[in-house]
Amino acid sequence: MDLNSKLAILADAAKYDASCASSGGVKRNSVDGRGVGSNEGMGICHSYAPDGRCISLLKILLTNFCQYDCLYCVNRVTSNVPRARFSIEEVVHLTLDFYRRNCIEGLFLSSGIIRSADYTMEQVVEVARCLREDHDFRGYIHLKTIPDASPELLQRAGRYADRLSINIELPTEEGLAALAPEKDSAAIKRSMARLRVHIDDAKAEAADHARQPVASLAGVAPTRAKPRSFAAAGQSTQMIVGADAASDAAILSTSSQLYGGYRLKRVYYSAFSPIPDASSSLPLKAPPLVREHRLYQADWLMRFYGFHAGEIAGAGDGMLSLDVDPKHAWALAHPERFPVDLNTAPREMLLRVPGLGVKAVDRVLLARRGRRLRADDLKRLHVTMRRVLPFVVLADHRPRGAAVASVPAKALPAQAALF
Ligand code: SF4
Repeated sequence: MDLNSKLAILADAAKYDASCASSGGVKRNSVDGRGVGSNEGMGICHSYAPDGRCISLLKILLTNFCQYDCLYCVNRVTSNVPRARFSIEEVVHLTLDFYRRNCIEGLFLSSGIIRSADYTMEQVVEVARCLREDHDFRGYIHLKTIPDASPELLQRAGRYADRLSINIELPTEEGLAALAPEKDSAAIKRSMARLRVHIDDAKAEAADHARQPVASLAGVAPTRAKPRSFAAAGQSTQMIVGADAASDAAILSTSSQLYGGYRLKRVYYSAFSPIPDASSSLPLKAPPLVREHRLYQADWLMRFYGFHAGEIAGAGDGMLSLDVDPKHAWALAHPERFPVDLNTAPREMLLRVPGLGVKAVDRVLLARRGRRLRADDLKRLHVTMRRVLPFVVLADHRPRGAAVASVPAKALPAQAALF
């Protein structure tokens, strides 16, 4: 099979691996002759570098052969799909070739499990080693690790990769046992814990290193040796949404434990896609994509807005509203907390006002130091008035009575995506 045919199969097979949070957003391209560029493309996905840049990655599997039979996965052993396998040299060649042609800024590499977890992980690590050591590749590398692989291999992976991820796959242990019986939730968490220790150790070493005085020979400019780095962009994981019956509350609770316990950089949510010849245990339809989007918004609220998992989707059936974003839904469910006085409320409460993002809150805090804020001031602070006014008190504004609680959710303006 030629390289292009392999690329078509293995880039397509990798599309189920989430490594960026753009799904649920608007797809754009320039096929109508206007504008430049596209946010779609075979084998190219986007990720975020530690300094906040959005970068394009060649996103492929080393192989879509797999000896496991995870029911939700198109690459499972019993799936009837065309199979392909790259050699290590082919992945290295493709990465360098795309990179030199300015198509990508890095590689996202995952793989089905062949022969054994260690054998597969060795191959994945060898790609990264070869890129870094033999070709001095300085682009971004994100490796999907195989949780059952030996700790030494995970440690080696962290030396070459910017980011490592281990898929938790499903929100609950029961879900994993039912749909991916060969996977071991304890092993997945053990590997996450190991990565956390290595990442913490490397950070502590770097901090120690920075405190040491630099020794140098007379007449030579002092230079500091580079500290050892280990997956500097941290670790992430992916959860499939809608393949089992887990509610959004269960999903967010698992995410919260993962962020707290293993200091993950990101939990990615991937809406389940129905696959050919699927097991009868799986739903026939994909969940609405907006559910995935709402989970990303809720996740954002937990990481940057001080919300706890239980308060976002805790009530009723534990599902997030599909009509209103989670922050707005929380505000509607808690009329007793509103309106909020923008001139006196603490930062934590301002962050809970629908329509006020982190930057807007900082602008409000700065502006109110010098004067009592009025409605006109919000315009100058670039705050969207119609979203915020129903929830806040200003020097010259007070919303009417229980207006906030009584307005049907759909009639209220929806808050824009939070990221
Ligand atoms: S181990 Fe990974 S690639 Fe293999 S069947 Fe399970 S999810 Fe798919």
